[in-house]
Amino acid sequence: MKNKGPKIIVYDLETSPMVTYNFERFDQNIGLEQIKEDWTILAWGAKWLGDPKSKAIYRDTRNKKDVRDDKDIVKELIELLEQADICITHNGDKFDIKRLNARALLHGLPPYKHPASTDTYKESKKVFSLTSHSLDYASANVNTKYKKLKHEEFPGLSLWKEVLKGNKKAWRVMQKYCLHDVFATEEYFTKIQGWIKTQNLSCYFDDAAIRCRCGSSNIYKKGFVYTDSGKFQGYKCKDCGKRPKGRLNLLSVEKRKGLLKEGKS
Ligand SMILES: [Zn+2]
Repeated sequence: MKNKGPKIIVYDLETSPMVTYNFERFDQNIGLEQIKEDWTILAWGAKWLGDPKSKAIYRDTRNKKDVRDDKDIVKELIELLEQADICITHNGDKFDIKRLNARALLHGLPPYKHPASTDTYKESKKVFSLTSHSLDYASANVNTKYKKLKHEEFPGLSLWKEVLKGNKKAWRVMQKYCLHDVFATEEYFTKIQGWIKTQNLSCYFDDAAIRCRCGSSNIYKKGFVYTDSGKFQGYKCKDCGKRPKGRLNLLSVEKRKGLLKEGKS
């Protein structure tokens, strides 16, 4: 079967806080023996890129005897990730991916085929000097549809406290909040996709069409790109706006023979 593009999953985790014993409030280092309850994964939301909002997937531990029992939802997320070529997260390289891996390890689960990661937080930091690269700031100032939710019904930590107590309304808010983060991450990815330099989605299409690195064939020739060693066809993508260049050096062999490099001085 011919590949018609990459399978891209966008996801977001919600974790429970640790519960610790501490005698002081300020400038504390919490020792391992002070930990009463370790953090766990409470919920995750995911969505195949481009799917309608109604097809988003969400799992949590609300019906478990112990809400900190996350083995099943960890397994289910791993099964989903194994189907994907690429995963998109906001700060997942530091947080979501490593948190999931940690829980998998602690549950004795085997390593899995992890999709290539595109972390919109990391990509954003590489290209822009935004005041903040948090999803809160980025979605509020760049996204037009999905801004990060504030969960005003359960402000601050109260959402997590209520969820851990089994408050059904709090769980519903958690679900809405988690999925909204997935939608906001997806939208932010589409806003910055043209600026991202680490993906070549064209490889996931088995056809021979000239495609932008975003995967779109909606691309046209525009000018030339010159480097130290040659002249290349320039392109412009009508979908993501990217300006990629061809790989073929358009300079003749004769011309290339005559190109000089910097000598020692
Ligand atoms: Zn493109």
